Amino acid sequence: MKALLIGESREGKLLEHSYELLGFASRLGAGTAMFLVGSEAALPSYGGTVYLADAAKCGEYNPDLHKRLVLAAVEREKPDYVVFMHSSYGWDLAPRVAVALKAAQVTEVVAVVEGGFERPCCSQKMRHKVNPAGAVAVLTLQVGAFPGEMGAGTPQLQPIDAEGDGRVVFQGYEPAVRKGVDLTKAEVIVSAGRGIGKKENLPVIAELARALRGELGASRPVVDSGWLDAGSQVGTTGQTVSPKLYVACGISGAIQHLAGMKKSGFVVAINKDKEAPIGEVADVLVVADVMQFVPALTAKLAK
Ligand SMILES: Cc1cc2nc3c(=O)[nH]c(=O)nc-3n(C[C@H](O)[C@H](O)[C@H](O)COP(=O)(O)OP(=O)(O)OC[C@H]3O[C@@H](n4cnc5c(N)ncnc54)[C@H](O)[C@@H]3O)c2cc1C
Repeated sequence: MKALLIGESREGKLLEHSYELLGFASRLGAGTAMFLVGSEAALPSYGGTVYLADAAKCGEYNPDLHKRLVLAAVEREKPDYVVFMHSSYGWDLAPRVAVALKAAQVTEVVAVVEGGFERPCCSQKMRHKVNPAGAVAVLTLQVGAFPGEMGAGTPQLQPIDAEGDGRVVFQGYEPAVRKGVDLTKAEVIVSAGRGIGKKENLPVIAELARALRGELGASRPVVDSGWLDAGSQVGTTGQTVSPKLYVACGISGAIQHLAGMKKSGFVVAINKDKEAPIGEVADVLVVADVMQFVPALTAKLAK
């Protein structure tokens, strides 16, 4: 079984999550080759074949042209799986490649299981188990679902090229305007999740953050509900944080949230459900009603 892993580079640097493709391939037990539109300066730490297209010529983002480059690598490698990250690059490019190959696509894979792959559904409350049919399948992997794994040795470079332009002209990157605090620098973060119930309960969580001399963070539903602004969100579409202490209040531990905080030094989770997935990454899981436990903890800390 062989997987062609589609790495990503941005502004001349390999994106860290490209190594999650290797972690996935190990879990699958597949042989690998990688594909990258980048430069020799952005090569992964990996000893296998890397199909390398020159980003200076092909652009870091050019879906039509990159599709043709991936197809050229598929032609040479004949993989069973073409694997992208579920990133803005992957979710744009993977369907184009799947259509061109007339291949099944499984989007947002979070686990390899007996007889197939799992992907989330029903707002992350359930998982589909699917097994793509056909000679080749296209997958995208949820960021953070598989551990990053660096390879050893020097890549065996296979230059790859394709003719023509694309129908999208990439104009450049524009940094997002970030409101509020920079959570990436915080040593302590106390985050509120949907489990706090309502906006009026936020001051209770903010009070704990203050008592711990930390910053206030949030899961996405708290931001989507307008209880806090987007700058407070932790996760794949929010900030990636690595504080010494992370306190998750009423947060279930969806993969997209975990991806943003799993590098925290010590994680305390307060959840009324002892089976909540956050328990898998928490050093301490307090099984309690967050609105009862947090004020009691804050009062103790104040003493
Ligand atoms: C493409 C994409 C990107 C995403 N990006 C992000 C992201 O960047 N960040 C992010 O956070 N999410 C993100 N999400 C959403 C993510 O999948 C989850 O839906 C979200 O993280 C869930 O937030 P939550 O844990 O606060 O809410 P829920 O999943 O609803 O969990 C609430 C938790 O609170 C507990 N609870 C309820 N009441 C109480 C109580 N009284 N006391 C104690 N515990 C209680 C429940 O047991 C439950 O575990 C993304 C989703 C997608 C599809």
